[in-house]
Amino acid sequence: MRIEESVKLDFKDVLIRPKRSTLDSRKNVDISREFTFKWSKKTFAGVPIIAANMDGVGTFAMAKAFIEDGNGLSVALHKHYPLKDLQGFYKENGHESVWYSIGMVKADEEKLDEFIKKGGKPDKLCIDVANGYSEHFVGFVKKIREKYPQKTIMAGNVVTGEMVEELILAGVDVVKVGIGPGSVCTTRRMTGVGYPQLSAIIECADAAHGLGGLICADGGCTVPGDVAKAFGAGADFVMLGGMLAGHDQSEQEVIEEGGKQYLQFYGMSSSTAMNKHKGGVAEYRASEGKTVRIPYRGSVHGALQDILGGLRSTCTYVGARRLKNLSKCTTFIRVSQQLNTVFGDN
Ligand code: 5GP
Repeated sequence: MRIEESVKLDFKDVLIRPKRSTLDSRKNVDISREFTFKWSKKTFAGVPIIAANMDGVGTFAMAKAFIEDGNGLSVALHKHYPLKDLQGFYKENGHESVWYSIGMVKADEEKLDEFIKKGGKPDKLCIDVANGYSEHFVGFVKKIREKYPQKTIMAGNVVTGEMVEELILAGVDVVKVGIGPGSVCTTRRMTGVGYPQLSAIIECADAAHGLGGLICADGGCTVPGDVAKAFGAGADFVMLGGMLAGHDQSEQEVIEEGGKQYLQFYGMSSSTAMNKHKGGVAEYRASEGKTVRIPYRGSVHGALQDILGGLRSTCTYVGARRLKNLSKCTTFIRVSQQLNTVFGDN
């Protein structure tokens, strides 16, 4: 047994210090980014925020709303759409705004192979497992990279620099970072495993950038300020679940009760998801996700305005003319939890 003594931080443990700035309006801030991916050599241009590949978030309707919004945000589609529906979506909307998600199960890989064989062009792949630390996962990533050298691959999840490096060397363009911070995740409670998300982002970004790779901070953002903190910490992309759930674009039924409207939101390894997609919870694995009800919030366009407006405003507070410079302009100050959870009005 060993104890690591250095303190690791979460979003709630810090605030961003304002700095003298020449920017007079948040309209003058550019929050889009351009990347060339290390392995695929493909390029990305747009606001680097990705809707999580979860039921109620990673939907076709969300992708269409993002296209309409025009800021270049993207959606990691949940992996439960039938092939026929995926073919229709890509034919109609192209591949720019979506990531095609797979897990390590054979059926996912076969569906992807068939999609491509039949002329589908999923340019960006998201290989998603709860625990990105297994040798088997690294082997799987290598296999997909060899099979599809020109696809952009995002894969995870991990939380430490050495594993980020191993995945990038195995062929990953964007490493997904986050174990346990998700709003409907119970991994920390069920297993005791996890890593405070802000420190995970700082350490993993450093490791990835040293090798010419990128990271996507996945999970734990609950307010627009958290998204800004994730970018300030060095994230290249930020993935959002709960913040984008509960909207018209969730493709889910609105529940009416006591004069209020709700939507169900659940983790993708919750018993709700497993019952829906796999016909029950497999005996050997505990459910590591929970099911919650969230108030119905109308169209996602309002939430997007808040998130993007908040991010622009952060950039003006620290003098970053472009999102690319936000991390260089960020000084985090540590605060007591109480200070940061009681948000003032100004
Ligand atoms: P949020 O933005 O809601 O805080 O976090 C979204 C992320 O939570 C997802 O992108 C995914 O990585 C993670 N997640 C989604 N469902 C589950 C689950 O059932 N269990 C765990 N451990 N994590 C989940």
